[in-house]
Amino acid sequence: MAELIAKSLIRDVPDFPKAGILFKDITPVLEHPAAFQEVVNLLAEDAKAKGAEVIVGIESRGFLFGTPMALQLELPFAMTRKLGKLPYEKITEEYALEYGTNTVEMHIDAIRPGQKAYIVDDLLATGGTAAAAQRLIERLGGEVCGFGCLIELGFLAGRQNLKGFPITALMEF
Ligand code: AMP
Repeated sequence: MAELIAKSLIRDVPDFPKAGILFKDITPVLEHPAAFQEVVNLLAEDAKAKGAEVIVGIESRGFLFGTPMALQLELPFAMTRKLGKLPYEKITEEYALEYGTNTVEMHIDAIRPGQKAYIVDDLLATGGTAAAAQRLIERLGGEVCGFGCLIELGFLAGRQNLKGFPITALMEF
């Protein structure tokens, strides 16, 4: 496959949000309509091929790519959000970070039983966030049919923490 325009636009920001982390900044992709469209098209194609019936975006950068995908595919869009952001009845999953824990939530009616859900985020690192989204979806009776992201940090082996569904990353670093 030809190199994506988006790959040349990812900006490395050292020591953000803390020392030792090389942050992959996707904001230049959003500022470049052809690159933005290209990644949305590729992820939407993948979600369609996986039989997605709902697109699930992970807060917050998963929303940027998941919402145009859902519109393009004429599918519902559902959110996993950080603790305390969702107004209605919700379920909660906690997962481990390098230091401490993080919590994600979904509305109880975000996924219908039996629905095939395709999860979207900007980046796959350890896979902890995507695995928590999978647990939320499965607790609501849904089935994860795939996970799509722009960037995979291969050295963190996130793929090995994600079981039961195919993973698509448009670029690897
Ligand atoms: P993980 O749960 O470890 O797979 O982390 C994935 C989540 O953390 C995604 O929502 C990413 O946006 C964010 N993230 C983790 N590491 C980085 C990084 N080096 N650059 C940008 N975002 C990151």
